[in-house]
Amino acid sequence: MSVAPRTDGVLVDRYGRVARDLRVSLTDKCNLRCTYCMPAEGLPWLAGPELLSDEEIVRLVRVAVERLGVTEVRFTGGEPLIRPGLVGIVAAVAALDPRPRISLTTNGIGLDRLAPALRTAGLDRVNVSLDTLDPGRFTQLTRRPRLDAVLAGLAGAAAAGLSPVKINSVLMRGVNEDEAPALLRFAVEHDYQLRIIEQMPLDAQHGWDRSTMVTADEILTSLRTRFDLSPDPAERGAAPAETWLVDGGPARVGVIASVTRPFCGDCDRTRLTADGQVRACLFATDESDLRAALRGGADDDDLAGRWRTAMWGKRAGHGIDDPTFLQPTRPMSAIGG
Ligand code: SAM
Ligand code: SF4
Repeated sequence: MSVAPRTDGVLVDRYGRVARDLRVSLTDKCNLRCTYCMPAEGLPWLAGPELLSDEEIVRLVRVAVERLGVTEVRFTGGEPLIRPGLVGIVAAVAALDPRPRISLTTNGIGLDRLAPALRTAGLDRVNVSLDTLDPGRFTQLTRRPRLDAVLAGLAGAAAAGLSPVKINSVLMRGVNEDEAPALLRFAVEHDYQLRIIEQMPLDAQHGWDRSTMVTADEILTSLRTRFDLSPDPAERGAAPAETWLVDGGPARVGVIASVTRPFCGDCDRTRLTADGQVRACLFATDESDLRAALRGGADDDDLAGRWRTAMWGKRAGHGIDDPTFLQPTRPMSAIGG
């Protein structure tokens, strides 16, 4: 094994993993306040000049695609739909050569209005976060009465031809832990693909508790009370979701067991925060400041080299179960979920 990062080519780390999937946070702000993500009062948001401009984002994505072998670009946040320049950013990234696949993770509010323009700009796929179908629970969970807007966003995404439309759900004990079968029924009926994610220690309030987390095993047990789940013959690759065929298929459901069955050994991700920091992992405790380099006049080769060095230092795993585990100082909404 070599002991130093390569000076050219792809984003490889010392364990041989190659990062081809780039997550870009477009903003740390959000129009919801999901209890597992941020406090009711919000967070101290990044100031305007700290955020990368649209041009800076496109330049860094171009470096990743042209020089570092990135083939997938996912925009996230915070809530990416509230970034004014989103459609233009998607269009500019879709014009890159080679063209990466482009996706979006969103809470869906406003997606009904924006989906056609995003599709035309080159967006390929979308993941909409939805944890409950009950309006009261939705308001309790997100602290905003916006369930109808999210449902409209899902329908608008499908109508605009974004495919597949995936739903991301997080189950919380005592809140919506009984809702897995209802969410799957809804997804199957609308031809959306459901993925249920174990809650991770990434909330700004540090309220996560391993002992009360709803585990993948519990999620599967709950789904099996209503559905027959059989292993999906499709290759999993670096995908975080373990998938099952629902009642023989073709519908599928995914469970992302980030905590109880970590998939760090197959991780192919690299992350760029809204203020231009490269992170090798959601749980990384260090960042590499590409914004400072970029604003200091670094050329594309220099930026690519810094990115490679940052990824070379990626740790083997997130270590949530280690006694020495430290939750990252930035919450998920600031890193980009
Ligand atoms: N606002 C967008 C949304 O909600 O989809 C994008 C950002 S959000 C941080 C990305 C995803 O992270 C969402 O699906 C959300 O449910 C999930 N998420 C947030 N906090 C989480 C946590 N502590 N554990 C697991 N997933 C979490
Ligand atoms: Fe906003 Fe997404 Fe966090 Fe919910 S999970 S508060 S929608 S960033």
